[in-house]
Amino acid sequence: MLQSQKFIEKNREKFLDELILLLKIPSVSANPTFTNEVNNCAEMIALGLKNIGMEKVEVCPTAGFPIVYGEKIINPSLPTVLVYGHYDVQPADPIELWISPPFEPQIKQTEIHPQGAIFARGACDDKGQMFMHLKAVEAMLQTGELPCNVKFMIEGEEEIGSENLGVFIKNNKEKLKADIIIVSDTGMLANDVPSITTGLRGLSYVEVEVVGPNRDLHSGLYGGCVANPINILSEMIASLHDEEGKITIPGFYDSVLNLSDEERAEMAKAPFSHKDYCTALDIEDTYGEVGYSTLERGSIRPTLDVNGIWGGYIGEGAKTVIASKANAKISMRLVPNQAPEIITDLFTKHFESIAPKGVKVTVKPHHGGESAVTPIDSIGYKAASLAYEKTFNKKPIPVRSGGSIPIVAMFEKELGLKTVLMGFGLDSDAIHSPNEHFGLFNFYKGIETIPYFYYYFNQLINK
Ligand SMILES: [Zn+2]
Repeated sequence: MLQSQKFIEKNREKFLDELILLLKIPSVSANPTFTNEVNNCAEMIALGLKNIGMEKVEVCPTAGFPIVYGEKIINPSLPTVLVYGHYDVQPADPIELWISPPFEPQIKQTEIHPQGAIFARGACDDKGQMFMHLKAVEAMLQTGELPCNVKFMIEGEEEIGSENLGVFIKNNKEKLKADIIIVSDTGMLANDVPSITTGLRGLSYVEVEVVGPNRDLHSGLYGGCVANPINILSEMIASLHDEEGKITIPGFYDSVLNLSDEERAEMAKAPFSHKDYCTALDIEDTYGEVGYSTLERGSIRPTLDVNGIWGGYIGEGAKTVIASKANAKISMRLVPNQAPEIITDLFTKHFESIAPKGVKVTVKPHHGGESAVTPIDSIGYKAASLAYEKTFNKKPIPVRSGGSIPIVAMFEKELGLKTVLMGFGLDSDAIHSPNEHFGLFNFYKGIETIPYFYYYFNQLINK
């Protein structure tokens, strides 16, 4: 056992008291009323970094809220771990739905957290999870066990889109040099089913318009004679999937990185009840691409969905009209290595090519985002997996998330670094919702697991 574990055991109360102080600051980045509090929170993080022995601690100004930096270089020849987290929180509204005030942390027992959970805005997302890293590093330093150099980069604008993080990273590439990034801002499947998020989907988003006649027409006089843009748009959209649920855009799957059978088998160990899933949504059955499980369809496979569709007369009663145009918004969730710009291009060419004569089609691209993946055979993943195995007595399950975390792709692009998402929260922790909480079990388990990550990362990288 690592010596740091004894230090953690002895300091459980102190760690929790410190977290409570941090949670009392309403660092809501979205609401200008709290600007001072967000800045105060940055100062408090800086102090926290100094107190645990970090050097070169700085509150780095940006065009928005500051990014707090600190480092401890024990020996330049050792591997370096870069920790990312955020100190800003979501607004607490609607406040009346909180069972205790959002910025007066309280410990309460819940069914899922019999050992108690700390209720406060930011408890899980991300103050509680970010603070685990400070305390784990403190424990390693106090016991002389820190086996890697460490750098912290804690930002204050994650909840409003990390707008100034990109510039900061571009301007500080040398300072941020590392071998791996670790982030605790995601979750795991359950307290007895540890898991590590290994992949995130990207996004391509387009808006389409189909224009037929130059004005709305009488459906009696013109019906049957001209292309009806709504009919045509519906047909075009319907043709984007085949009968097996595959997307028909030529080249759409060309760059998809297929998972190894081993990784699919590991992923399949995640508990999943088809019946519960359907019951929760009040549907008779799931629907999707042939050959993949529901979990796979929602994570490792790309998708295409209409998010909105409009056109023609939608008011009360009947109006016999052939509308001049029809529109839809369409999102495509992408997987590694599908590039959003290329997919948007393929979509546009295909959509234009399937339009019949008699209509004009325009495709307008909206924002997109890159996907990201940390392979399970990478050193970072392996070190994290061994660390979880040590503290949970169970091998964690690799999980691909269907959602996106744009900063992970940005880290890879700008710093050339993979990110290990060591999240210890649970889905039920109500992040972004009233009564957000974070299990004490999870808080301490995180602090205990992190030193093993450093230990194994040092060992594996030197192999
Ligand atoms: Zn977060």
